Amino acid sequence: TVRVRFAPSPTGMFHVGGARSALQNWIYAKQQGGVFVLRVEDTDAARNKPEWTEGILNALDWIGIRRGTYEGPYFQSANAEKHREAAQKLYAAGRAYYCDCTREDVQARNGSQHQGYDGFHRDKGLEPGEGRALRFRTPDEGATTVIDLVRGEPTFENKNLEDFVIARGDGSPVFLLANVVDDMIMGITHVIRAEEHLPNTPKQQLLWEALGVKPPIWAHVPVVVNEKRQKLSKRRDKVALEQYRDEGYLADAMRNYLMLLGWAPSGDREIVPWSVIEDEFRLEEVNPSPAFFDEKKLRAFNGEYIRALSLDDFIAACQPFLANGPWDAADFDPLVFAKVAELAQTRIALLSEINQNVDFLFLPEPPTDEAAWAKAMKEGAADLLAATITAYEAQEDWSPEALKATLEAVGAERGLKLGKAQAPIRVAVTGRTIGLPLFESLEALGRDRILTRLRTAHT
Ligand code: GLU
Repeated sequence: TVRVRFAPSPTGMFHVGGARSALQNWIYAKQQGGVFVLRVEDTDAARNKPEWTEGILNALDWIGIRRGTYEGPYFQSANAEKHREAAQKLYAAGRAYYCDCTREDVQARNGSQHQGYDGFHRDKGLEPGEGRALRFRTPDEGATTVIDLVRGEPTFENKNLEDFVIARGDGSPVFLLANVVDDMIMGITHVIRAEEHLPNTPKQQLLWEALGVKPPIWAHVPVVVNEKRQKLSKRRDKVALEQYRDEGYLADAMRNYLMLLGWAPSGDREIVPWSVIEDEFRLEEVNPSPAFFDEKKLRAFNGEYIRALSLDDFIAACQPFLANGPWDAADFDPLVFAKVAELAQTRIALLSEINQNVDFLFLPEPPTDEAAWAKAMKEGAADLLAATITAYEAQEDWSPEALKATLEAVGAERGLKLGKAQAPIRVAVTGRTIGLPLFESLEALGRDRILTRLRTAHT
């Protein structure tokens, strides 16, 4: 059976590129009737934190790779003994040798050239000892060809592969070896991971062969870049999946978008149900060139996904954001919210935008925005407000249509089109120049609060 794994290092927030690779592994396993294994590569003691691991597991849950539905999580640190054994096995077989060169030693010998380790200790027969690293003896001739479902058969000249370190001076194995040994222990048949690791692949395949196990099939999926074609980085770009979640991206929109990085479903479609992606996705079709992570497009996707929700689901999805609204929790009225929810659903692209659309309903006073105020309260605004107050005081029908007809008439008497007449009213009542349709907003707010706010604005 096919066994794939996702092997994140818990050294930071969970990266969108990682989420993309995780989903590709997940789908591949499903398509092949295989097994998805989660392995946490927690051997970088200086940079690992348990909360990062927790964050990764939560983010995977969110994106649809749920705890309990995959094998693991395993922890790389639990295999430390196996890693050391593998290193010793390679040494015993003459495939690795000890070396006590420091980086400076190597550099001094290389001069201005950056060709890496020069094989200085290859045949010196250095005994094991404190501070001596173990290096793998790479072949001098020939080439290493790997089978890569995305890239064909990349071939690497062995003479360009330096004798790389497999265990440090203190005996602890490095990533290259630990990662291979874990994959062997876990019976991994296909390694699907980011392009960044392609240069490691010939070295790792040589390790598989030297340890006497048939290497896996590889698939190196494209690097994810920003609009400047730079690799997405946590210092420069918004890369944390959690951050997208917290801004109100829907998991379904996110995973649909992530799967379009380097691939597309049939028929010019982009927004498709997950089941279609699970059916149609082919690793072999993934475009190896860098994939542009286009946040604008993702945002537009999210808007579409929001609009596709049932009203009940939309209201439920808004709850975590509403719970953090700028109002007193006691002032939040779910019935009032329900009145405008459908209108909001058609306008927002992120769930977090819900609060700015409805805050005027739950705050004792509309939010104050000087710029909005200055823009709307031009000459004639006071007169218009006064006339609207008088007209609304006499108003009996508080339906949006009737409120609109009244304001239309008040405006017409002053030679103002409805749009112009609405502006000061909107700012007086909602505190903003843009927002939900005005008359539905008024209806939801109710007579007393409308009149109070109009009067306050007028004085
Ligand atoms: N821990 C490695 C990483 O996060 C895993 C590499 C691999 O998938 O082999 O980059």
